Parts: sequence; C-alpha cells; structure tokens
Amino acid sequence: MTRITDLLAAGPTVSFEFGPPRSPEAAATLERTLVELEPLQPSFVSVTYGAGGSTRDTTREIVEHIRRDTAMTPMPHLTCVAHRRAEVTDIVQGYRDSGIENLLALAGDPPAGGAAEAGDFRYAVELIELVRDVGDFSVGVAAHPEGHPRSTDRASDRRHLAAKLAVADFGITQFFFRANDYFTMVDELAALGVHTPVIPGVIPITNVGQVERFATLAGAAFPVELADRLHAVADRPDDLRRIGVDVASALTRELLDGGAPGIHFYTLNFARATKAIFANLGLPRGLRPRVPPTSRIQGQNRGQNRRAEAEPRTGAPPPF
Ligand code: FAD
Repeated sequence: MTRITDLLAAGPTVSFEFGPPRSPEAAATLERTLVELEPLQPSFVSVTYGAGGSTRDTTREIVEHIRRDTAMTPMPHLTCVAHRRAEVTDIVQGYRDSGIENLLALAGDPPAGGAAEAGDFRYAVELIELVRDVGDFSVGVAAHPEGHPRSTDRASDRRHLAAKLAVADFGITQFFFRANDYFTMVDELAALGVHTPVIPGVIPITNVGQVERFATLAGAAFPVELADRLHAVADRPDDLRRIGVDVASALTRELLDGGAPGIHFYTLNFARATKAIFANLGLPRGLRPRVPPTSRIQGQNRGQNRRAEAEPRTGAPPPF
C-alpha cells in the first residue's frame, strides 16, 4: 500500500473516484471500468460511502477487491454523522487490520426528512480525531471551493475548512467549473495559515441534465455560457461528450499549470471520458506543472517539485 501523503510529496497525483454499485448490472459496469482504468496507473482511487452507513458493506467489499485484485491503491470514504462512535471505530479498525493506509474522513449529510438519527458526531473534524487514535492513516478531507452548500456565510465556512485541513494530511474538492474558484480557495486558506495540499476534483460532463442536478446539490455554479454550449448539442451525444471532455481537459490543464498538487476525477463509474482526457493531455507524463508551482499557489507546493464507457445514465452513483 502507498500513503497519499508520500505520493503528494513526490509530485502531482492523479486519482479516480468510484461509487458502490446499486445493481448487478452496475456492478458489472464498475468491474469493466476498473479493468479499463487500471492501465492508466492512477496514484490512488477512492470509493464513496453512503451517508449513515447505507453502503457500509459494499464500500468495504470494493475497497478490498481493489486492494487484493488490482495494482491500484484504494482509499475508502467514511462519513460519521448518524453513526455511533463504537460503530465507526469498528469500521476504521477493520481497514487498519486489512492494511488500508488512507482514508477520506467526512461528516456526511444528516438523514433526509430532518429526523436526525442518534449519532455521536457532528463534524468531519471529530472523525479525523478518531481515525488518528485508531491507526497511522494518511487522512484526507472534503473541501468546497465555492463554500459548503449548507453554510450561510463564506468566512466561517473557510475558517472551519482551515481548521479541518490543519489536522488532516490532504483535501479533495467538490467538483467545480471555474479554475479561479479553486485558486481563490487556496489563497484564502493560505491567508489563514493553512498550506495542506488540496487536490481539485474534476467531473467530465457527458450528460448535461445530470451534471446540472449534481451541481445544484453540490453548491457548484454551472456557468451560463457552458450550459448554453452543452444544451445546444444535448441531442447529439457525440458532440456533447466531445465538448464535455474538452472542457474537463482544459480545466485540468489550467489547474495543473497553476500548481495544483494533483487531479481527482469523478468517474461516475465510467471509463471513457476519463480515458479521453488522459489522451488529450498526454497524462500521466503531462502531470508535471509547466510553470513553477509557487506562481499560482502560494505555499501549498512551495519548495517541492510536486510533481469504455456508456453515457452516465440513471443508476450512476452521484459524485461527491
Ligand atoms: P464538515 O467539514 O464537517 O462541514 C460541514 C458543514 O459544517 C460546513 O458547512 C462547515 O462550514 C460546517 N462546520 C464544520 N465544522 C464546524 C464547526 N466546528 N462549527 C460549526 N460549523 C462547522 N458524502 C457522502 O455521504 N459519502 C461520500 O463518500 C462523500 N464523499 C465526498 C468526497 C468529496 C471529495 C467531497 C468534497 C464530498 C463528499 N461527500 C460525501 C459529501 C459530504 O459528506 C457533504 O458535503 C457533507 O454535507 C459535509 O461533509 P464534510 O466532511 O465537508 O463536513
């Protein structure tokens, strides 16, 4: 196994996110995707966790499968809201005992309908503490460049994010469409004295309605000119996919050129768009930032040379 902290110290990372499948057909699709994406040699891959424990066993099974049967390094996501401390301790101990060294520590969302189930946690930072007590994990956390959707004011949201990143090893962002939102967040964190590497998340758009819905939930602005461009070709899947891949490729390049410590692709369990972006950019060889890292990201990388899919359709797990 490989610690993500060490990977980030060695150079820019590239990672893929997968979600637990919800049907036998979706499981077969995920399996094909793993086979297709493994040759791209991602630095690590992550597997999401259903808030409140809805995918507790499947997340674990997929993480184990990737660890055992592929050359990829898996990182489980884990949410703590609506969980008891003993339950979460048991999950983390299980990962530790099977040799998992990386974990994405999240709060998760409270159960829908407002009836908060009994739980021992409120914020992700409390989970980081527990994970550190259980084992020597490289611990990642979520970051929202445009602010967390439940947050009422940006300044306090940034302070909470800074406090969380200060005790974590790295962050991964929610997806976004304007590179500047990411760089502004990094600058604001630096102003608060936090230089923990934050990996930007990129979503390739292959279904415009679906990504608009995801963006609304995630609190990510969907630029009008991009929406217009995509809606104009909404009934021409090949054109839509080409534009989606071009947009994601350009964003990826801008982020890496600006000194981002890596890129995290929201695959929605499909391989084709991610493979096309790799081909466009000549990744992974093209991962090295072309400009000195300090030019855009103050401090985060300072002094280091950081270095076949169907259309997503109903049933694709949501990105986070
Ligand atoms: P926190 O960091 O705890 O923040 C939640 C809110 O509380 C924010 O508004 C913050 O400003 C506020 N806050 C934080 N600390 C304090 C404090 N001390 N006092 C007052 N307010 C505070 N969800 C899933 O269910 N499963 C997944 O697998 C998953 N993976 C994700 C992966 C990534 C990369 C990202 C970006 C998100 C993911 N999510 C996932 C979504 C995430 O669980 C939600 O965004 C959730 O609402 C908040 O989780 P968090 O870890 O960001 O919470």
